[in-house]
Amino acid sequence: MNTLRAPGTSRRLMLLIVLLVLLPVLFLSAYQIGTFSSSEEMMRDLYRRQLDVMLYSLNQYAWDVSAYWAATLRLQMQKPERSAEQGARMFLDRTPVVESIVIADSAGENVKIVLREGVPAYNAVQETLVAQLRRHNESLEQLLRYRSLEYRKLEPFVVGGPSAADQRIVLIFANDSGSVLPRFAGLVFREEEFITKMLAGRLAEAAGEEFVLGVFRKHQSSAIAASSPMRESEIVQRRDLWLFPDLEVAIGSRGVTLDEIIRARLVRNIAFVAVLNIILLAGVILVYRNVRAQTELARAKATFVSNVSHELRTPLALIRMFAETLEMGRLKNEQKKQEYYSTILRETERLTHLVNNLLNFSRMEAGRKPYQLVPCSMRDIVRDVLSTYMPHLQHAGFTPVVELPQDEAVAAVDREAIAEALINLLDNAVKYSGPKKYLRVKMMRTANDVRVEITDQGIGIAPQYHTKIFEAFFRVPSGFVHDTKGSGLGLSLVKHIMDAHGGRIELESIPDKGTTVRLVFPSRTA
Ligand code: ADP
Repeated sequence: MNTLRAPGTSRRLMLLIVLLVLLPVLFLSAYQIGTFSSSEEMMRDLYRRQLDVMLYSLNQYAWDVSAYWAATLRLQMQKPERSAEQGARMFLDRTPVVESIVIADSAGENVKIVLREGVPAYNAVQETLVAQLRRHNESLEQLLRYRSLEYRKLEPFVVGGPSAADQRIVLIFANDSGSVLPRFAGLVFREEEFITKMLAGRLAEAAGEEFVLGVFRKHQSSAIAASSPMRESEIVQRRDLWLFPDLEVAIGSRGVTLDEIIRARLVRNIAFVAVLNIILLAGVILVYRNVRAQTELARAKATFVSNVSHELRTPLALIRMFAETLEMGRLKNEQKKQEYYSTILRETERLTHLVNNLLNFSRMEAGRKPYQLVPCSMRDIVRDVLSTYMPHLQHAGFTPVVELPQDEAVAAVDREAIAEALINLLDNAVKYSGPKKYLRVKMMRTANDVRVEITDQGIGIAPQYHTKIFEAFFRVPSGFVHDTKGSGLGLSLVKHIMDAHGGRIELESIPDKGTTVRLVFPSRTA
């Protein structure tokens, strides 16, 4: 029978905790970690949309500027007091980014280029322009169709020249057939000039603190204009610029990337869940241990009551039996009588010892056990205890080996308490010795302390119980010990006494070999 462990209860408790607390928490954690990735996806999506809106607004801005120019040009050319060409020139005077205006008839023929006053003609560009307009006749027809539907569309053409510097963008729009305006008019400018003069400010404004926006020529890594220095590797999203078929506008985040933000968030969230789980687990372990300790204690107390009753009953029965026999006066043999008297005495001593232990324990529990520490000769205490206890030892078949030092050893102790501690240790040595009745009481002095050790060659104590045996009510739950009754209080009292003396207990014990319990007192010189 196992007196102190309650495996059934513990297992049931553990099962309950696992089922009611740990499993739900594990599921919840797993679920939460699962939701992290979906919220991560949501964040990415939101971010992408936000970027899209920014890119869209830039495109819209470029478009608005061009549409405004087209409207102004149309107005200027419509004025009855001057020709369309004159109107175009006036427009050019006020709009420095636009380099020239192109005018053409419906077939893309009669193409004329209007230059700003004082700017020399550039024939190379003009020639290419005419050629391209002819080639894109279809697009021009398309523009006319849009116009008839009241839609003011601007069609961009990239016009290449002999060198990159000669490349221009022409934004062509169509005019109504019945008006005085030429069928087609186009704004000619250099792309890069439009970007740096018209769009650059807007880029910085839209990018704000968090983002970086830039306009790139497709398949080129350096930006034409950017809100702040921008590397191609920083780009998160890019969109075509509606007006400029060979350019794109790109956006990136400044400092931290979205991936970094998401990763940091994920790490934070996971750490949070992990810490919560650890706290919960620690709590569960604590509760489990506590409940287990309580169950163990309850069982130990129950066992204790039965042990103590037994301990009380046995000497009482003996005393009564011997006293009755003596009282009847039937015993004539003097030696037998003496034997009976000494048995009665021994049993009374045993009872006193037990009752003392119980009283001391209850005082100790209530924190009411007073100790009066006075410098005492430790040799005297040991000698006194041995001489009082000798009959008991001898009766149990022990002839103790006593080794006391030559010199006096003084320690500040409570004489009564130490005597009691020693008696408990002697009592244990006797109780837990098998057939080998060996007992040694040894006292030593070192520079700092006085040591008293009691050694037996009894059943010994398995290492896993070396600390537990000092707990109240604890008794080693195996074999032999159950034939020997005890309260399980002795060593807890010894420990309490030693703690009160600022001393310590050392235990050396090997199962089936024997046990040494050493009491170490800090020494005082008398
Ligand atoms: P009790 O002896 O009344 O059971 P103690 O507190 O004195 O209580 O001892 C606690 C337990 O420690 C004992 O039940 C026993 O199992 C073990 N023990 C104590 N002293 C010895 C010893 N000298 N040899 C073997 N086991 C011991």
